[in-house]
Amino acid sequence: MLKQYDVIIAGSGVAGLYCALNFPADKTVLVLCKENMEESNTDLAQGGVAAVLDLQEDSYDLHIEDTMIAGHRENDPVSVDLLVKEGPCDVRRLYQEFGVDFDKRPDGSLNATLEGGHCRRRIVHHKDSTGHEISQKLCAAVRQRSNIEIAEYSILYHLDRIDGGFFAHILQKDQAVVTAAPYVVLATGGIGQVYRYTTNSPIATGDGIRLAWEMGCRISHLDYVQFHPSSFAGGDTTTRQRFLISEAVRGEGAYLLNCHKERFMHLYDQRLELAPRDVVAKSIILESRRQADEHFYLDIAYKGEEFLKKRFPMIYEKCLASGVDMTKEPIPIFPCHHYLMGGIRVNTNAKTDIDRLYAAGECACTGVHGRNRLASNSLLEGLVFGRRAAQDICRKMHQGQFTPPPLPQPDNTHGAPLPKGMDTAINDIMQRASFVLPDMGAVREGLKTIDRYMARLKMGQFALTREYIETLSLATMAHIILKEIQAR
Ligand SMILES: Cc1cc2nc3c(=O)[nH]c(=O)nc-3n(C[C@H](O)[C@H](O)[C@H](O)COP(=O)(O)OP(=O)(O)OC[C@H]3O[C@@H](n4cnc5c(N)ncnc54)[C@H](O)[C@@H]3O)c2cc1C
Repeated sequence: MLKQYDVIIAGSGVAGLYCALNFPADKTVLVLCKENMEESNTDLAQGGVAAVLDLQEDSYDLHIEDTMIAGHRENDPVSVDLLVKEGPCDVRRLYQEFGVDFDKRPDGSLNATLEGGHCRRRIVHHKDSTGHEISQKLCAAVRQRSNIEIAEYSILYHLDRIDGGFFAHILQKDQAVVTAAPYVVLATGGIGQVYRYTTNSPIATGDGIRLAWEMGCRISHLDYVQFHPSSFAGGDTTTRQRFLISEAVRGEGAYLLNCHKERFMHLYDQRLELAPRDVVAKSIILESRRQADEHFYLDIAYKGEEFLKKRFPMIYEKCLASGVDMTKEPIPIFPCHHYLMGGIRVNTNAKTDIDRLYAAGECACTGVHGRNRLASNSLLEGLVFGRRAAQDICRKMHQGQFTPPPLPQPDNTHGAPLPKGMDTAINDIMQRASFVLPDMGAVREGLKTIDRYMARLKMGQFALTREYIETLSLATMAHIILKEIQAR
């Protein structure tokens, strides 16, 4: 690692990588990632990317309207406009410049699909593993750029503001190191590990949001958490990371069934299975209360083996490995944590409240999603606002030379071992207090415990480890979420 870079980007998901690729070759960029480069929520994305690529069949206005309806019209209209109108250009770059292999029709045109909340088939995808395909292609492109250095297993845990930039404190494997840059982009992803069950990668602990909060940035709508209606609920139900049964399965016509294997969505919403995610997740919870039973299913077997194996090869294999053949029987599902709509408040150039500090992707709140994200708008947001962050930084970069003071000594990593079980206790509190339908009694009680944990984590002189950094982030996320629920 060098003593200084032009830009430090924390995160190698779609937002961080695409941001890095938008800097010219004469700018030195450091990309940090917690584990290997590919480990991210981006890599897990299944359904696809929403974009208006065919203006004869679709229109920007329709995509904007779908986004606003899903978001309960709490979306920021200016950001939505940018997302929808600029996004297609970024999506085209994915396949034209970086070689992303989206599925095509026999005539060679892109084979866009439908998902809940969309009124047109506008989701381009690579089978049912779109995120993996995008991640692989962007990682390969970044590796080829000589101006971009990648630091794997390198956790940004603290930022100091200095004149004209930042000192970045990084835990690299077990060693603390410090480097400097005039610009920092936080692209650290979501907060899934705050909840007991999540579709998210283990890296999703809200570190970037904690850093921004500690520095005094506004954090908006952290309680706008999306619970996906259909995580796989068969096989081993003790694992925390839940496999997602993509929205596209409902998009292709799957029926939602209750414990009696009967359709029930007509009792809750006239859009039936194609209602937006929050509506479907709430409907499942209300139906589970009505039936006093938590067994739910997605049934798409009627579409036939040939179609299902071709359209959903990964989901088919994963279900089969857990003993469920989706071509012959309904898939057991239940809602779980999936996505964060809120985050570090940024403007339309992805800039935070702090000069030279940017945030993009799931850790940022651009306002595009309002109270509920429309399916497949998230990869698109990472692309559009990751690029906008890079462009804004490039515009400002030539304003003055950055000469940082001498780097400080890296922190001592020694200290007391972290008490066991704090992270699971946080998960249990959050599951009780704020899973789909908040429980205000549990919010009040939970907040007291979380605040005790935060004080202990800060005062306890604990060893500087990944576990410590993540537990501090989880407690901070829980604190902000519960406070926001209380205030609402
Ligand atoms: C199962 C699943 C399916 C999904 N399907 C879709 C879909 O079909 N379409 C869609 O639009 N969206 C989908 N999403 C959502 C979408 O994948 C994510 O919102 C998006 O990929 C987030 O991208 P990101 O770049 O912000 O973060 P991520 O891709 O999560 O990347 C975060 C990066 O930050 C790094 N990091 C974290 N903390 C630190 C730290 N302290 N220091 C250094 N590095 C750090 C991580 O190592 C990682 O590299 C899905 C999500 C999941 C979980």
